[in-house]
Amino acid sequence: MRKFTGDTLLVATHNAGKLEEIWTLLAPYGVTVIGAAEKRLPEPEETETTFVGNARIKAHAAAKATGLPALSDDSGIVIDALDGAPGVYTADWAETETGRDFTMAMTRAHDMLAASKHPQPWTARFCCTLVLAWPDGRDDVFDGTVEGWIVWPMRGNQGHGYDPIFQPIGHELTFGEMDRWEKNRISHRADAFEKFVAGCFG
Ligand code: IMP
Repeated sequence: MRKFTGDTLLVATHNAGKLEEIWTLLAPYGVTVIGAAEKRLPEPEETETTFVGNARIKAHAAAKATGLPALSDDSGIVIDALDGAPGVYTADWAETETGRDFTMAMTRAHDMLAASKHPQPWTARFCCTLVLAWPDGRDDVFDGTVEGWIVWPMRGNQGHGYDPIFQPIGHELTFGEMDRWEKNRISHRADAFEKFVAGCFG
């Protein structure tokens, strides 16, 4: 693993929230963080079947286009009784003609679990893979997870995505009921970022 010694990191996302989160995290290290939109980078198609595969596509495309080290992430929820679905297709399950509908996606997951006849608890994990791609084509990978189970009915309206049906192990509340600070402390994203910061800036 290489230490980050440059002064600028390209974050391969068009999501302003993610960019701000990473900017805050790296502020103590004096790194200038710039987003894909600022460099007018296109959003490459995510054609791989793994989190790391899709994160690599985004990070390498951005590093190649800019000559800067580029960080990307890919995330989703993996449900054991559904053989790992929705996995890399987590966002796709919510896609409708008029935008994303996560109530529909969560209902689909629950209906498939109920039909599967797998006994509860339905174990699951949120996964987040970060890839830091270097302009010379090499990369470093950081995987984060949080283990839990799928609950039904949905509980809570904090957070986003599949948060209302995910209860992390050791907690009484779902991610949808937990305050944001608590979720951000234990999440798959926090786990991956901790490894990234320790590996590249520690
Ligand atoms: P992406 O990594 O931006 O492609 O996001 C993948 C999808 O995973 C998102 O659209 C969310 O539906 C879901 N997801 C990722 N992290 C979380 C989380 O912390 N809570 C709820 N849903 C999440």
